[in-house]
Amino acid sequence: MAVVANPLQIAVIGSGPAGIYAAEALLKQGGPDIKVDVLDRLPTPYGLVRYGVAPDHKSIKSIAKYLQRVLESPGVRFIGCVELGKDITSADLLDCYDAVIYCTGAMVDRQLGIPGEDLPGSVAATDFVNWYCGHPDATGLEFDLSVDEAAVIGVGNVAVDVVRILAKTADELRESDAPEYVIEALADSKIRRIHMIGRRGPAQAKFTTKELRELGELENAAVSVRPEDMELDPASAALEESDRHVRGNLKVLRGWAALEPDDRPRRLDVRFWLRPVEIRGDGRVEELRLERTALNDDGRVTGTGSYEVLPAGMVLRSVGYKSVPLPGVPFDERRYVVPNDAGRIIDPDGAPVPGEYVAGWIKRGPTGVVGTNKSDAAETVRSLLADLPAGRPHEGKSIDGLLEERGVACVTYTGWLGIDAAEIALAEKLGRGERVKLAGWDAMRAVWGA
Ligand code: NAP
Repeated sequence: MAVVANPLQIAVIGSGPAGIYAAEALLKQGGPDIKVDVLDRLPTPYGLVRYGVAPDHKSIKSIAKYLQRVLESPGVRFIGCVELGKDITSADLLDCYDAVIYCTGAMVDRQLGIPGEDLPGSVAATDFVNWYCGHPDATGLEFDLSVDEAAVIGVGNVAVDVVRILAKTADELRESDAPEYVIEALADSKIRRIHMIGRRGPAQAKFTTKELRELGELENAAVSVRPEDMELDPASAALEESDRHVRGNLKVLRGWAALEPDDRPRRLDVRFWLRPVEIRGDGRVEELRLERTALNDDGRVTGTGSYEVLPAGMVLRSVGYKSVPLPGVPFDERRYVVPNDAGRIIDPDGAPVPGEYVAGWIKRGPTGVVGTNKSDAAETVRSLLADLPAGRPHEGKSIDGLLEERGVACVTYTGWLGIDAAEIALAEKLGRGERVKLAGWDAMRAVWGA
């Protein structure tokens, strides 16, 4: 494709993978003259790669190196600590740029809607993930790991991450970038048994085989699956036949179902066909009541009227993420996404909103792996460039002037590099791996000098 020089100025809101892939697609498709500002609420770039990917998943985290090259490309700027709705509005952005791409992801937990969900000890996986990843909003959270048993609800990849972190010892995570407070808390953990619970069968589980397999490689935890959970109904058997991902998962799970329990200090029970109906306890979580399920003729999960109670001092709800509405931007309250057509935001009358676009999880929902956002962002950028006249000089206000006028203490890319260097130095000082995350806003502020 011929690249046409285009002096467009574009704002990308959110510096996670979707935002940075959008910046990359703008450079690739829009040519060398395009200017892209990537704004973020946090002083640090990389979004979920930094604050969602588990600390022991180093190879996935290395995607940050690729994203870094995009952020350092001529024409791209990172502007941290600018919050949409607080420091600037979408109307400001449209005054300052030719177009805006919102890439703010999906950072809030979905609710189970069952009694006891709010008891102390019932924890949203989003909070636990933010905590072990050192998200500055979560560094003050405390989880009681002095309990014997924990239940993780959901059988997606986030549930697998959470289970793995609970099942690993602090020593196994010392070389990771987890903040010191995480290593200290996990060193004191008394959790010996973890239950991971799927409301449908093994063929319907959402985790991917590569991630699932890692649970079988845990040094200190033995995995078990009940053979009776692996009996497949005709619909599940058909899925196994037609879907190689399902085949991969079932092979791993059947292998575990055939194993005799061993004497590793921790135990992980992967359970299926159980839906949570109540979290119970006297002032805090003590047990989880579950109903046995089956699939009906439409393939939907239905209760069988038979119940089971699991002892669990901690219940982690890992049932998916959702996006939150952005001020001044249309939102689909049912699907938790911004309504769009190939990335063009659509207003309630079905018309495209001029100059406003979405990419990533806020566009399509929380699905896929990090790389899925690359093609997703490229599609949005194709729509954007098709809509905007090439070669039009930008005549709007300056974002720098506006932020200065409002006294917004933003963080530049150089400010982030200061945090980056401090984290590398901290790891060296502690004798821990390549990086240890700075814990909390104050520790980061001390480095960038706000
Ligand atoms: P997910 O893949 O959508 O899984 C959510 C799980 O919660 C499903 O098992 C779902 O069961 C269950 N669930 C939903 N509502 C429930 C309810 N009311 N009661 C009981 N169970 C319920 O979501 P996720 O695990 O949060 O992952 C989000 C995305 O991030 C996925 O695309 C995932 O692959 C990705 N991710 C990737 C990695 C990696 O590549 N290493 C790591 C983490 C996350 P049903 O299927 O029955 O609805």
